[in-house]
Amino acid sequence: MRWLVMRGLLIGRYQPFHKGHLEVIRSILKEVDDLIIGIGSAQISHTLDNPFTAGERMTMISSALRDEGLAGRCPFIIPIPDLWNNALWVNHVKSLTPRFEVAYTGNPLAQRLFREGGVEVGVPPLFDRVKFSGTEIRRRMLRGDDWESLVPVQTIAVVKGVRGVERIRDISRSEKITFLEPGDASP
Ligand code: NAD
Repeated sequence: MRWLVMRGLLIGRYQPFHKGHLEVIRSILKEVDDLIIGIGSAQISHTLDNPFTAGERMTMISSALRDEGLAGRCPFIIPIPDLWNNALWVNHVKSLTPRFEVAYTGNPLAQRLFREGGVEVGVPPLFDRVKFSGTEIRRRMLRGDDWESLVPVQTIAVVKGVRGVERIRDISRSEKITFLEPGDASP
């Protein structure tokens, strides 16, 4: 059945929302009429891998989409907490979102779960994944290297507004740091 509005879902953690995410949204919007942005791991914040709250991530995304003129095409930004049961996750996502026809994700586990749940999966193209990656941006924040050039200005405003770089540095003093250097052996 062809719905009047073809709607996609892009699920991600957006820790933080970066220019690669923005490009992937632009590219998906060439394929669908509307796109739901699902903020995954919504319950997690204040860790090295997930420093920002769902509300902070939502603000980064909604203000960037508004300023880029894309907000009307992405009418729903929905926090989705993780579920401690992968087999039930797709129904959990569906229960929190409006109807969608295609789930877009680069995450192999999420791809498998959607396919097993009978949902069509779109694999978004990657844009300069070495630079535009949440892991790289958080590493740069921690080290004091340039991270601002990798994110939209709206993400910079949110990070500065919550003193996000200081937050990550404080967390790093209470968590084992697991960033690898080129040439390091895997832990
Ligand atoms: P992410 O923020 O790393 O990525 C979000 C999306 O953006 C992905 O599709 C990724 O491919 C894309 N992307 C990232 N960088 C890009 C770039 N440079 N160019 C183009 N696209 C780029 O988020 P993620 O880790 O993939 O999010 C998956 C979410 O699904 C997590 O929150 C995870 O916990 C959740 N999940 C939960 C369960 C469960 O609760 N049982 C199961 C599976 C997945």
